[in-house]
Order: sequence, then structure tokens, then C-alpha cells
Amino acid sequence: MIKDLHNKLINKEITSEQLTLDYFDRISKKDKDIFSYLTLTKDLALEQAKKADEKIKKGEKIGLLEGIPGAIKDNICINGIRATAASKILDSYIAPYNATVIDKLNEKGAVILGKTNLDEFAMGSSTENSAYGPTKNPHDLNRVPGGTSGGSTAAVAADLASWALGTDTGGSIRQPAAFCGVVGMKPTYGRVSRHGIIAMASSLDQVGPIAKTVEDAAIVLSAISGRDKHDATSAHSQDKNYEEFLTGEVRGTKIGVVKEYLNSLEKNVREKIEKVIEFYKKEGAKIIETELPHVKYALPAYYIIQPCEVSSNLARYDGIKYGLRIDDGDNSAISGNSSDLPKTLLETYFDTRQYGLGRETKRRIMLGTYALSSGYYEAYYLRAQKARTLIKKDFEKAFKEADMILTPTTPSPAFRLGEKTEDPLKMYLEDIFTVTANIAGIPAISVPCGRIKEGKKELPIGFQLMGKWFDEENLLRVADAYEKK
Ligand code: GLN
Repeated sequence: MIKDLHNKLINKEITSEQLTLDYFDRISKKDKDIFSYLTLTKDLALEQAKKADEKIKKGEKIGLLEGIPGAIKDNICINGIRATAASKILDSYIAPYNATVIDKLNEKGAVILGKTNLDEFAMGSSTENSAYGPTKNPHDLNRVPGGTSGGSTAAVAADLASWALGTDTGGSIRQPAAFCGVVGMKPTYGRVSRHGIIAMASSLDQVGPIAKTVEDAAIVLSAISGRDKHDATSAHSQDKNYEEFLTGEVRGTKIGVVKEYLNSLEKNVREKIEKVIEFYKKEGAKIIETELPHVKYALPAYYIIQPCEVSSNLARYDGIKYGLRIDDGDNSAISGNSSDLPKTLLETYFDTRQYGLGRETKRRIMLGTYALSSGYYEAYYLRAQKARTLIKKDFEKAFKEADMILTPTTPSPAFRLGEKTEDPLKMYLEDIFTVTANIAGIPAISVPCGRIKEGKKELPIGFQLMGKWFDEENLLRVADAYEKK
């Protein structure tokens, strides 16, 4: 826990350098099996750790994150460090600047251990779409950690990082957090700057914390949030210390539950969620029934809007502007030009993208290009946007009565590696409870709520709280009260 580590640092029980070396030691022992990291940034980490140690030695006051080691998803840029987004097309790409969230973490003196694995460009729900191979769930190495921030959640769950950053476009922080038994939060759209995040679906992407406890998540969120002039979508919201809102009190809070959601669950998951509801009732929260009539369109709308934005955002990976370029005759994937002659521009585009992008990424680009093409735009993209508006209105109405809405994070615990890779629709259904928050732009947090027996293993499961726009502090307060029960 961050505060425990912080106390050890200021009481001089351990130095940040030693703490950081201990993490690298554990990574070298355990990460062969889990594969949560793609790149380690040892020099950078030790440099940051020593800075924190210097301050402590001089008796200067240090912040809560100062000298505390964490991990960063590999679609977030760190100046001078490889940023692959787990794609072959960016295999050799070195970021030329820091993402704003990295600048902010540096200001707070946080230590960065390395870059974590993800589904290519953050598309998927299992981290199996990584060009470098899948991350494994630390609770059962035959199972997926969830995705797409599976590297970050697995690293935190296995204590290969004390906190991590992920990104969440349709559930990529919350679903893997639930599968790995850690806390994950997607802030309100606009709360955290996306400057320096490898763009995927820009109207949905958000950066957020992954942590062992709600309090840790609050500490990391306080460090990374705030207005950024480099990101026009970042909101003029006030900076806050979210950890100060964790009073443990839920009396009077109105928590909405959606009956259809609960009814759709298998018994073992449903029981866990009902126990959480019982807890809140007992603590004096008011449980009310909420209706979200258009939410059934969230998943279909997402799988139109997201691919459309992907097809546009990923057009920049053409073999000319970024990363991989296949422009000689040796690697002829599609154009058929395998002669010694240089390729034409079009052949370079074709061969670079054919070779450099994975299966799921290509599928989304094709879906998006189709849905945006003339004659189909109105039938697909425009309709999906209209559904999006209706879903937002559902939430506006629901939040007139409820302060927040409680749901499961996922329909079931972590599935086996390979179980859903051949059936994209099954994989997409993983996002059924999470995409709505991205579609509406509201904040949502996943909190562990017990384990479910699957064979010989006990797998974690999580519940989700979705809150009003820019009301992270109340979500964190209510989530923390449960965790401390
Ligand atoms: N699973 C969703 C998808 O594949 C969400 C991904 C994400 O949140 N980055 O698009």
C-alpha cells in the first residue's frame, strides 16, 4: 500500500533505491511466467529513486507518491523510451516526448519501473492481442488477466509494481482489474489529459489508475488529473486530493441497482453482487431501483463508434510517418512486389500495414471504414451516435434519483487463455457492463468483492460503481467504505 511504503521511506526503514531494486528482483523472478512487462526502465527508475532518497536524507518533506515504484501501460509515451502499444508496427518507436500524465508523475517524484503489456493498440479484452504474446493471470497462469491493461493489472496483482496506469476505452482498466483482484478506475472523460497517449478511439479513451486499494487509486488519480492545454478535451476541473474524501461513511448515499443486470447473472456472481448491496444497505445507504432503458444499445453502439474512430486514428501508421516501414522487395506481404525494385508508395502502405498490424486491429479498421463509407454512414455511425445520446439521457435521468449506480464489472471471472480468441463476438460481450460508462463519459470504478471457485483455483471478481460526471470523490468514498468493511 502506498501510504505504508511512504511511511517506511520517511521513517528510513528502507530507501527508495532499495525498494526499487526489490521490485526489479521480483520482476526478474516472476515475470518470466506472467509477462506483464514489455520494457523495463531500470536506469530511469533508479535515477528517480535516488532523487527521492536525497530529499529524505536532507530532511525535506516528500509527497505520497514520491519514491514509490509503479508501472505504465505501453501506449503511454515516456520521452526516450520505446512505446509499442504492443504492435509490430511500433516495435522500434521511441517516444520523443512525455505524455502529460508522465510529466505529472515526475513532478510528484514517482518511480517508473517499466512499460506493461496490452492488447495491440488497446483493442481486446484479454491481452492476447499483443504482438509480443499474452500476459497471464497471476491467480491462475492458464487464464487471461483481462484486457487491455492486462500487463498493468497483473503487475499490480503480483506485486511487480505498487501501482500502475492503464487506459480505458470500453472497460480496459476495470475488466482486467476485476479479473486480477485489484482496483481500477476510469475517470470522467476529460478528467485526465490524453496528451501523449497513443490515440485509439478519441471520444472514449481515458487514462486511469490501477492499484491495490481504493486509497492508492485515489492517490494516483490526484497525481495525474487536471486541465492540460495540450489536450483540448481536458476539462477545466479543479485539482483535488481524492484521498481526503475517504471518510468510510456511506449513510444517506443513494445507490441505484439495475434489476435486469442482476437477473442476467449466473448464480455465483449474482450472490457476490447481492452481498455488496446488502453491505451498503446495512451501512445506511439507500438502495433504489434504477432504469436505464437504452443501455442495451451501448455495446452495439460502441462496436460501431470505436472501430470508426480506430480506422481514422490508425491511418497514420502507413510506413511513412511512424515506426515500421516495408519499402524494399524482401517483405512482400500483399502487393506481390518481391523484386529488387523499390516499392511504390501504395505498395509500401499495403505491405507495412499488412505485416505490421495484427488480426483484431485489421478487423476493426475494416469495420470502421465500412461503417463510415458513403451510403452506410447514416445507417451505422449516425445511428450509433443517436443511441449514444439516448444512453447519456438515461444516465442524466437516473442521476436525478441515484448518486451512483452499482453493477457487476464482468459477467464472470477470468476465462482460459485461447477460450475466446476465435469468436470475436464472445470477446466483445466481455464489455457488456463496462462500455456504458465510456459511451456516457461518466467515471466508474471496479472494486474486488470476493472469489469464485473454478476447479482448484479461486478467481477474483469485482463490482462496479458508475458515478455522475466529475464526481470521482464520491465514487472513491463509497468504494473505499466497502473495501474497509
Ligand atoms: N474491450 C474493448 C475493446 O476491445 C475495450 C478496450 C479498451 O477499453 N481499450 O475495444
